[in-house]
Amino acid sequence: MEVHLEAQTDTYPVATAGSPSGRRKPPVDAVELEHRNLRQGEFWRAIPAYRDVDEATFLDHLWQARKSVKNADELLATIEELADPSFIADAREGFKRAPMSVRVSPYAIAAIDWRKPYSDPIRTQFIPVASKLRRDHPRLTLDSLHELDDSPVPGLTHRYIDKALFLPLNTCPVYCRFCTRSYAIGLDTEMVDKVPLAKTPKDWQAAFDYIASRPELEDIVISGGDAYQLPAKNLRLIGDALLDIPHIKRMRFATKGPAVMPMKLLTDTAWVDALTAVVERGRTLGKDVVLHTHFNSPNEITWITQKAIDVLFKRGIVVRNQSVLMRGVNDDPEVMRLLVKRLSYINVHPYYVYMHDMVRGVEELRTSVATSCEIEKFVRGSTAGFNTPLFICDAPGGGGKRDIHSFDYYDRANGIVVYSAPSVKPGQHFIYFDPLDTLSAEAQARWEDQAAADAMIADAIAKAGGSRTYVPA
Ligand code: SF4
Repeated sequence: MEVHLEAQTDTYPVATAGSPSGRRKPPVDAVELEHRNLRQGEFWRAIPAYRDVDEATFLDHLWQARKSVKNADELLATIEELADPSFIADAREGFKRAPMSVRVSPYAIAAIDWRKPYSDPIRTQFIPVASKLRRDHPRLTLDSLHELDDSPVPGLTHRYIDKALFLPLNTCPVYCRFCTRSYAIGLDTEMVDKVPLAKTPKDWQAAFDYIASRPELEDIVISGGDAYQLPAKNLRLIGDALLDIPHIKRMRFATKGPAVMPMKLLTDTAWVDALTAVVERGRTLGKDVVLHTHFNSPNEITWITQKAIDVLFKRGIVVRNQSVLMRGVNDDPEVMRLLVKRLSYINVHPYYVYMHDMVRGVEELRTSVATSCEIEKFVRGSTAGFNTPLFICDAPGGGGKRDIHSFDYYDRANGIVVYSAPSVKPGQHFIYFDPLDTLSAEAQARWEDQAAADAMIADAIAKAGGSRTYVPA
């Protein structure tokens, strides 16, 4: 990971010999303060296509949207000689085989270290390369979280008693390779015909009517797609419609935007004003409206991000982060600690770190549950508890979010992790499977045999207590 120490401006206490108490801590290593060293300057000018782009243009969110890279030819035209031709050929093949559409903002392109594209955490999230692809786990399905099974009307998932997920659109400022909703988000690809979502204000009425008809609902997550893509008037329309429902007490607008296009918070005043108006109206009604975002790498956070988040902070808008644990992006304890501390530093609360869902076509990004447990132990204690994320597994099959350590049984040799969710779906087991290539050769061979695999799963369920029903993903 690239570290930018030159921007360090703060000063820190230095221990002095003979201090009165004799218990003064020694000076800290620079590495402990690395989270404050945000990338500075016009770093985008290192990209050939942005060499002549001035700050005002680069910070224009409309320019960012217009110049987003959507295919291998556009990528090549943007980075030119920065990447090896063999990498471009690899990416071209990767684009063809990806279940997700590709869209990468100039901000994200500029944050990639093109000298080392294969190991770069931002490239890994957005630009597929065929040479890294792994075979999917045999128990993986397209909608592994079974959101469609819990969907009473198009664009709404009602799983938890008091909370629903509203999906008012299917576009995003970027498309993440690892998206849980690759079954619906973005354009159809060669691999996947997308499930249609309700996308217009007229379509949304069914969701509003359903929410109004369910008095147990208090909490609505507005996701997608991505709330960044909602025109300001529609953001306001959704916010007001939900605030008008007496039993709705909490709302969360979800967006990856601040991580990949932070400048929108600086230059799309109408959008920020609409969000602020909903937050302020909520406050007068005694209702909590916040923004949830999605940083995965400390490299996504630059001086632009800090300035952008500061706009929200000064308006009293709470921002929480939900990361996904990904191989080659943040599955290193030091990198995760840096991410958590950097988020805290810019006033974003690190809220969750999810296990990577069992999503088609991105098996090389998943980690084992054991890795998550180890990283959680390392991160806990690095900073204040309220800024320490909860590491969770969104249990395949619709079990909802489970604390990573709360499995009923973990067969580490075969990578089978059994969870239960008594308050969500009592009487059922939910299983997460570690990626096959993290298992021994013998275990991988066992997964080749359907009967042996069924027996391993049955054995794990028996050892987990065995009295519940197993819901395959
Ligand atoms: S921004 Fe969110 S919804 Fe959109 S592709 Fe990324 S993970 Fe999926």
